[in-house]
Parts: sequence; structure tokens; C-alpha cells
Amino acid sequence: MSGPPEPSAEKPEPRCALLSGGVGGARLAEGLHRALPPGHLSVLTNTGDDFELLGLRVCPDLDTVLYTLAGRADPDRGWGLQDETWHCLQALEELGAPSWFRLGDRDLATHLVRTEALNRGRSLTGVMDDLARALGVAARILPMCEEAVRTRLRTRAGLLDFQDYFVRRGQRDRVLGVEFAGIGQARGTREVLEALEQADLVVLAPSNPFVSIAPILQVPGVRRALQESRARKLAVSPILGGRALKGPAAAMLESLGHEVSALGVARLYVGWVDEFVLDPVDAPLAPAVAELGLLPRVLPTVMSGPPERLALARALITP
Ligand code: GDP
Ligand code: CA
Repeated sequence: MSGPPEPSAEKPEPRCALLSGGVGGARLAEGLHRALPPGHLSVLTNTGDDFELLGLRVCPDLDTVLYTLAGRADPDRGWGLQDETWHCLQALEELGAPSWFRLGDRDLATHLVRTEALNRGRSLTGVMDDLARALGVAARILPMCEEAVRTRLRTRAGLLDFQDYFVRRGQRDRVLGVEFAGIGQARGTREVLEALEQADLVVLAPSNPFVSIAPILQVPGVRRALQESRARKLAVSPILGGRALKGPAAAMLESLGHEVSALGVARLYVGWVDEFVLDPVDAPLAPAVAELGLLPRVLPTVMSGPPERLALARALITP
């Protein structure tokens, strides 16, 4: 005869706060969103890339996370919506209006709704909740703060607004310094600070350390909330084999005086996290990461498709 049923060995599912930029962060957000029960994921998202275009409030990283979690992101471009059309953009070009930042017709609807709500006095946090609900996303997509913070890059061509550097000039300028204008007056929102307080697991996404993760960490209130949190804290490297999968993270490591490797990223995160996730190509760096006082974990981190994203998320959730 068998005895009474064993008490369930399953632990309650953790609550997770993910610090995220756009593409790299959104990929991991999607994995975590599927690995965790509804409502257990908060994505604390960079707003330093935000700007105004033709009277509209553009929030590139928030929208990349939103569209990715909604399963509507364009898989090839890495930004914007799938099945997009560009009639408005063509009309803008004909009118001689700025068309360097490409907002598609469907994407425009998000921007109209957001801008109208902000003009009515709704908070950006509230707007993102509305958009997430409308698109059936169960995770919270939280702007890092409500105040306008604007990332600017010091280059030989002068101080460039983030989108001027990133989109208009195609990241061709060597970045000599990074500034977050307005960050001194900003404050982590109640929702951001609560998410950090309640988290069992805090993850720094494999996002750009200088222009996606740093602004979130520097929002007043965030450092303290992280220090006081009892969560496991880990970071995933955006640099694999000395290269970024996309974007200027590797070039910025070099121009800002850091080693261009996952180890260079790990050094930036000493004091912020306890564990550092390296891709198997960087397994030889694990002892050097351990010497920094971070627990190295070697896991496949290339999140090409949904299975890889889910697998990485599950591995991160498991201590
Ligand atoms: P952005 O705001 O859209 O520029 O995107 P993020 O800052 O969130 O992410 C950019 C970083 O994501 C780049 O440095 C990439 O190397 C990294 N990245 C993109 N996809 C992946 C991936 O599948 N795995 C890992 N480890 N890093 C990735
Ligand atoms: Ca971004």
C-alpha cells in the first residue's frame, strides 16, 4: 500500500522584475512572460530613448516590449509591428515632413492613443497598462519613471540626442560619453519601486549596459530599492564572443574604455547583481567572472526564437 501523498515539492513561482531596453530585453521578457504565471512579471523599461515627433510621444523601448509580449512585433526588423504598411510615412515625405524615424500606419495608432491620453493627464504608467490590457498582455510594462529623461551621447559631432545618434545618423559616431538629461529630477515610480520590493528575482536583461540598463539604475530610488531587495539578482550578457548580436554595445564598450567582452560587462555590474550569465562561447571567462565576486552561470543565451527564449527564462528562474 502506498502512503499518504507526498506534500508538493513545488516551490511557489517567483515574482520577477526585469530591467529592460528594447530588443534584447524584449526577447527575454517574452521568455519570462511564458515561463511565469500571469501577473508575475514586471518589465522595468528604459525611457531615455523617448522623444517627440510631430507632436507624438514616441517610446521605442516600451513599445518594443509591448509588441513583443503581445506577439505582434515584426520578427525581421526588430522594431515596430508585423504586417505594417507605410502610407502615412510616404505622405509625410511628400509633404517634406521629417520621415527619418519610421512610424508605420498601425504603429501610429499606438502613438495617437498614447499622446492623447498623456495630454488628458493620464500617466505614462497608466497608458502602458491600458495598451497592455488592450493587446492582451498579462505582464506589467512599467516605464522607469514619469519624468522626461533624455539620453544624449557625447561625440566629436557634438552632443547628440539619442535618436539622432541611433536612427538618423545610424550609430556611426564614436560615443565618448553618455548623459541622461533630467534624471536628477526623476523618481522611480511607485509601481517600479514596488515591483523591486516584491520581486524574488531581479534580472538585468541582455540590453545595452550604457543606454538601456544604466538609465534605469540611475533613476533616483532604484539603487536603494535594489539594495534593500532580498531577491536573487542576476544579469545576462548582451555580449557574446566579444560582439553584440545587434546595435552599438560592443562599440560603446570600446570607446568608453572597457574590455569588449562579457567580462567587460560583468565588471560594470559588480555591486548590482550576484550572478552573471555567460553564453557557452564565453565559458572560458567564467573563472574571471567568479574573481569579480559574481557567480558565473553558463547558459545558451542566443534567443533566436520562442523555444530558446523560454528555455533561457526557465533556467534563470531555477536557482
Ligand atoms: P534596443 O533598446 O532595441 O537597442 O535593445 P536593448 O538595449 O534591449 O538590447 C540590445 C542588446 O541586446 C545588444 O547589445 C544585443 O547584443 C543584445 N541581444 C539581442 N538579442 C540577444 C539575444 O538573443 N541574446 C543575448 N544574450 N543578447 C541579445
Ligand atoms: Ca533602446
